[in-house]
Amino acid sequence: MKYDLHNHTHYSPCGNIKPELLLKLVKKKGMDGIAVTDHHTIKGALKVKKLNKNKDFEVIIGDEVSTNYGDVLTYYLQEEIKSREFFSVVDEVKKQGGLIVIPHPFRTSINPTLKFRYPIEKIKDKIDAIECFNARMIFQSDNKKAQELAKKLNIAGTGGSDAHFRFDIGRAYTLFEGDLRKALKHNKTRYNGTILFGPLSGTFSFLRKRIFKNITD
Ligand SMILES: [Zn+2]
Ligand SMILES: [Zn+2]
Repeated sequence: MKYDLHNHTHYSPCGNIKPELLLKLVKKKGMDGIAVTDHHTIKGALKVKKLNKNKDFEVIIGDEVSTNYGDVLTYYLQEEIKSREFFSVVDEVKKQGGLIVIPHPFRTSINPTLKFRYPIEKIKDKIDAIECFNARMIFQSDNKKAQELAKKLNIAGTGGSDAHFRFDIGRAYTLFEGDLRKALKHNKTRYNGTILFGPLSGTFSFLRKRIFKNITD
């Protein structure tokens, strides 16, 4: 199975993909399923699910919640998550039978508030996976760090495009056999993709080392 597990529709303030187009393009990219993870709403996900008429294509209803520790991806929701406090979010999701994934844990940003701040020892037993390939990373090394962390914690890794625009869709994905929940639980997923700034990444890396070192490291 090949799923893109991180996508935004125009129900996210920063996204501009209509649910109809997202569903069409993600199928065209050869995916067998998708997680729709808008910021703080499941409206777009519900629309995509309703539009999908193919029983063999799975639409996972989720969202991306900004918590006190950073972003949290949620999957298999029945209703919207109200809390913004990490452990309360976990409780709300688990009550609904959902899953918790930490997206882009090492994203480089010139905004220092977006630095890594998940207290991993405290939260590692609460999470179901770590997003190990996010296609919107500027640096492949940020995905590498996430991959190393998942390996160290012996926890499953996922891949997702984090699509906000139509050209992002399907740029990263998760591969597994059978059922996604089981594959995550037994650490049997794989992931792959291409980063948006791939060809420019070397140049960015060089500049980062020279200019942004204090901000990003
Ligand atoms: Zn995010
Ligand atoms: Zn996102």
